[in-house]
Amino acid sequence: MGLCQLKPRRRSRGPHLAPPDGLSGPLGRGQVRRLMGESDHWRVHPGKDLHLGQIDAGSAPGAPGDRIATESVLPSLQTELSELQARLWAEGRRSLLVVLQGLDAAGKDGTIKHVFLGVNPLATRAVAFKEPTPDEASHDFLWRVHAHCPAAGQIGIFNRSHYEDVVAVRVNRLAEPEVWQQRYGLINAFESILAHGGTTTIKIYLHISPEEQLRRLDERRERPDKRWKLRPADWDDRKHWDEYQVAYQDALKRTSTQIAPWYVVPADHKWYRNWAVSRILIDALTRMDPHYPG
Ligand code: ADP
Repeated sequence: MGLCQLKPRRRSRGPHLAPPDGLSGPLGRGQVRRLMGESDHWRVHPGKDLHLGQIDAGSAPGAPGDRIATESVLPSLQTELSELQARLWAEGRRSLLVVLQGLDAAGKDGTIKHVFLGVNPLATRAVAFKEPTPDEASHDFLWRVHAHCPAAGQIGIFNRSHYEDVVAVRVNRLAEPEVWQQRYGLINAFESILAHGGTTTIKIYLHISPEEQLRRLDERRERPDKRWKLRPADWDDRKHWDEYQVAYQDALKRTSTQIAPWYVVPADHKWYRNWAVSRILIDALTRMDPHYPG
């Protein structure tokens, strides 16, 4: 993943190619309702209240069954995702941006590794956002993000994103409140620009419990193949658990829009997380309804 090799496009994309809610394609109403219903378990509805503390991170709403039953459907979801991606790539006019956020050890890396197992690397662009470099920090906060957005035909995957600029920045007091507060509106405007240019944005928050995070961090410390992922800051960040929850809650409420919705996925169970994220992406791509050029 991460290759930016682009093939010649038949036509350039333009504003007319992306219906803002992605729902005005040729799908029938019943089909759309069914799709909306499936992703509805996790969707943060604009204007509605959200209490992350009331969402059980170990729950598995809508799963086809227990762990074994749910894992058994994952290969067919991978095939479905890869077929939809093939059409998006061949169509070459629109793109999908998947934003993954979550606390340390929430499973962002693992989700990317498992959910995108069957996708074509040429048509995929994955980026992990770290603390801004001096060069990045000398520009506005969306500069580095915009530069990594997917090109026409691609699926872009963000492991962390511009949402760090309203969460990590807020919790760690890296900017004055007036600065990060203004960013909600700027982010909504930015994602609307992306939609206008043909990019559908889907944002997923992986919701884990403090107990499961501790278990995973302990496991990382014990296992040489996982220890490299640990940073001393992971333990410090745990002390700010409640502040992170509030910061995420506000960010999700303020930026879950019709054109770029947030989904909260209970992520204590990796099998459930992989299934739920796959479903959300397949539903989003099905709504986009990409076609092979005829
Ligand atoms: P990861 O945890 O994603 O595997 P790291 O361990 O390198 O990767 O952590 C990346 C760190 O960079 C996180 O603590 C995250 O909050 C921080 N970060 C990312 N973007 C920003 C930003 N714009 N401002 C401040 N901190 C950021």
